[in-house]
Amino acid sequence: MNLIFATHNRNKFEEVKSQMPPGIALGYLGDLTHEPPVAETAETLKGNAELKMMALAKGTGLNCFADDTGLEVAALDGAPGVYSARYAGPEAKDFDNVQKLLKALEGNSNRQARFRTVIALYWEGSIHFFEGVCRGTILEAPIGHGGFGYDPVFMPEGYEVSFAQMSLQQKAQISHRGLAMKQLINWLTNRAKER
Ligand code: IMP
Repeated sequence: MNLIFATHNRNKFEEVKSQMPPGIALGYLGDLTHEPPVAETAETLKGNAELKMMALAKGTGLNCFADDTGLEVAALDGAPGVYSARYAGPEAKDFDNVQKLLKALEGNSNRQARFRTVIALYWEGSIHFFEGVCRGTILEAPIGHGGFGYDPVFMPEGYEVSFAQMSLQQKAQISHRGLAMKQLINWLTNRAKER
């Protein structure tokens, strides 16, 4: 079964590909098109995931999915949330976003946060949504060299290391995206069994 992951983020694609069951050939959007990424103009993760998925589904009719993730920090009333990628400005790099977050939490003992991912799937004419949540805390300073985004400052609940200190496989076992992906994979596996 062919399925396209509507993302231009190679890191995310590799992370998700490592979880796919045998029998599903996962395609990378960046290999299919040179169109710029779809503008994420919705105000919710679900809305943005649907926008990205629909842009590809409408254009090609191919089975596909898109995800949208936000880091929701308790002491910041859920910010940066849906604006996580652009927290420090429209052209912000991971480093800038992390620095802004650490500054916003400076001196604050409430470091609770969670990553939340919503996946929107287009499959043979119908649309489905899946969600994954990973709770943790924001560290005082970045640690580790793996991953991307806020990984160096996020320590998942029950662990003594940041996401950036974990392997792709370790992170995928417990991460927001990993958990949302597990639901998507279960769903696909059941569809495959029905055939
Ligand atoms: P996206 O919707 O997956 O593109 O994620 C939006 C932003 O959230 C990204 O630009 C990253 O800054 C951050 N982000 C998403 N997933 C992760 C993750 O697994 N680890 C760290 N940061 C992430």
